[in-house]
Amino acid sequence: MTALVAAISGVYGLVIGSFLNVVIWRVPRKESIVTPPSHCPGCDAKIANRDNIPVVSWLLLRGKCRSCGTPISARYPLVELLTALLFAAVGARFAHSWALPAYLVLTGALIALSLIDLEHFLLPNRIIYPVDGALLVLFAGASALEHDWGAFGRSVAAGVVAFAIFYVIHFVSPRGMGFGDVRLSFLLGLSLGWLGWGELAGGLFAGFVYGAVIGVALIALKVQGRKQQIPFGPFLALGTMTFVLFGEPLVDWYRHFGR
Ligand SMILES: [Zn+2]
Repeated sequence: MTALVAAISGVYGLVIGSFLNVVIWRVPRKESIVTPPSHCPGCDAKIANRDNIPVVSWLLLRGKCRSCGTPISARYPLVELLTALLFAAVGARFAHSWALPAYLVLTGALIALSLIDLEHFLLPNRIIYPVDGALLVLFAGASALEHDWGAFGRSVAAGVVAFAIFYVIHFVSPRGMGFGDVRLSFLLGLSLGWLGWGELAGGLFAGFVYGAVIGVALIALKVQGRKQQIPFGPFLALGTMTFVLFGEPLVDWYRHFGR
């Protein structure tokens, strides 16, 4: 059962990953994600359905447009593969939970937001607000089906708590944390809080640790200058996904051995 849900989620992830590529390219450029259909950035030729199969088409065309030969970035199939792998992992983790759809939405949103933040230093409201709405509905639905309204109450409370913590940090150090991160924190809090308060604390803390460790490493390796801005969204996303996937064993471990 778990393997089946993981496999279906993974295949679904390939298709969603293809959609996320469109979102990642168009949303920061303020373009519609519905029209026009995908076209080659080199020659504007519309991309035929048979050339729009996730990962497979890119490999068959050897990363080039069929009409003009313009190279197509390896980022496209990589985003599709990453989405498929993470969807499969989330499918395995939540195979027996009604919260699976909520965590798939979260995962897709965090992939898109992380890549947009890395490239544009931006966490667009056009993604965050609809995902907030979708998660509230999906977590409420999961709580209803699992007869556990406590989880939904905790989820909303955790969203508010996360928002408040990030708001204070932003207020104290607006250069250290942009307001985009504050808006993102509500969504992270909702998702971690549905699982538990330990997951909330761990997931947010892990985000800060990833940011600090990788930030210092990038400066030490001179990949990034000391004054250069480093987007924080991807680290927060990574911290949250760590505790969404592995929160149960991590929180248990902490309770037994961590103090
Ligand atoms: Zn072309």
